Amino acid sequence: MKTRENAIEMDKAAFRKIGYQLIDTISDFLDEIPEKQVTTNKTPKELQNILGDASLPVNGTPAEELIVHTTKLLLDHSLFNGHPKFFGYITSSAAPIGALADLLAASINQNVGAQILSPIATEIEKQTIKWLAEFIGVSPNYGGVLVSGGNMANFTAFLAARTAKAPKEIKENGLTNAPKQLITYCSKSTHTWIDKAAILFGHGSKSVRWIPTDASNKMDINLLEQTIKEDLKQGHQPFMVVGTAGDVSTGIVDNLEAIAAICKTFDLWFHIDGAYGIPAAIIPELKALFTGIKEADSIALDPHKWLYSPLEAGCTLVKNPKHLIDTYSSHPEYYNFSLTEEGGSQNYFEYGLQNSRGFRALKVWLALQQIGSNGYTKLIREDIALSKYFYALADHHEALKPITQNLSITTLRYVPTDLEGNDENNVTYLNTLNEKLLNELQQGGEMFLSNAIIADQYCLRTCIVNFRTTKKDIEDSIKIIVKEGRKMHLMLQNKKY
Ligand SMILES: *Cc1c(COP(=O)(O)O)cnc(C)c1O
Repeated sequence: MKTRENAIEMDKAAFRKIGYQLIDTISDFLDEIPEKQVTTNKTPKELQNILGDASLPVNGTPAEELIVHTTKLLLDHSLFNGHPKFFGYITSSAAPIGALADLLAASINQNVGAQILSPIATEIEKQTIKWLAEFIGVSPNYGGVLVSGGNMANFTAFLAARTAKAPKEIKENGLTNAPKQLITYCSKSTHTWIDKAAILFGHGSKSVRWIPTDASNKMDINLLEQTIKEDLKQGHQPFMVVGTAGDVSTGIVDNLEAIAAICKTFDLWFHIDGAYGIPAAIIPELKALFTGIKEADSIALDPHKWLYSPLEAGCTLVKNPKHLIDTYSSHPEYYNFSLTEEGGSQNYFEYGLQNSRGFRALKVWLALQQIGSNGYTKLIREDIALSKYFYALADHHEALKPITQNLSITTLRYVPTDLEGNDENNVTYLNTLNEKLLNELQQGGEMFLSNAIIADQYCLRTCIVNFRTTKKDIEDSIKIIVKEGRKMHLMLQNKKY
């Protein structure tokens, strides 16, 4: 029963009607994704024309009209990362239960910043964090917080590492008055977040030591140790080493065990950026690749990547969650262990950068239950097998050259069979050809992939974190790449490139 007349409330009958219509349309969409183009690829100018340049609406429009119109707008002009032939960047298809979870979460609208504002939601987020720790095979005593994605998960851990390892006074005095420069170590294939963190948090990009990789493309452990020793000699303070578990370009997992040992020797914080790859630690036959993760002081992972959560969902796990409270609690004098004790309440605003927080845990929590660890093991294993299949098909094709295959990332190049001239010219030509081919494929809308530069070679890159992809999609994609590659090659030849 309404007591106040207002334009924003929707009565029960209207909500039902609009909601059912929307659910019907979404059900059709999910069912028909495989038949759609991956992207419509309108230019920003064209999209602006479609949207029009009306100024802020003064009067309202009926909700039903808005939802119907907007659904069509989005379905007609989006890129569908849930399409079975979408292999770009590291963007997964989204579990449909996540869409229902977001609707439910938004309807009840919990503020998961404080326990009192989100009684059961806080408990669900705690359970989600515990399950994610179990998922990747570390102690369920890790604590943590859900954040918007991998960058935020890494930032959240970076600051906790600093609080734990820097002189206590920096909280009051700031970095400029710190006696020594705080140094971070990571492999040269670490994601750009590390630069952003060093700059944003006042360390400066020169405080990051990009350690070269060894023959297996993992961080060179000898060089890591030498660099730390050199920094100590120079009077700096090493404080954190970042190991990557699945690098963005090619899916390489660093030697985590060796990094953990170095961190122990020099008393450094060991952080793992597992935003993409760490869910693969659930696969029994891949356990060895991830040895050492149990030693991590903190881990970043992205449910919106290989756990197929709709955007946005990232997660920071910390071995001793006290470091999060030390970093983020704005009332350190009130901080006491009763916060984490049996029966005590946990306020998530004290675990990260956000104050008011949405209930992003719900979609992760529901998918973990719907699929279970067995279901995830099967899906992730299949994604990896499909990526290997991509590699094998490229290997068998005379006009394709596979370059790398790790986890679910395969890189390859289109190499025309009638290539003439010396190798040096061909290197440049093949780079141009593959770059133009990638642009063409991305515009074309038949499939979607991205690129990687490996040893100065421009490569096509496919990352399969997609529960809709089948072997047939891979076979068709190979044909599309070859067909478009041949066209592009002919075009460039005719232009006397
Ligand atoms: C994707 C990714 C990131 C960034 O994560 P976002 O969710 O895009 O913010 C960081 N590190 C690695 C290894 C990644 O794969």
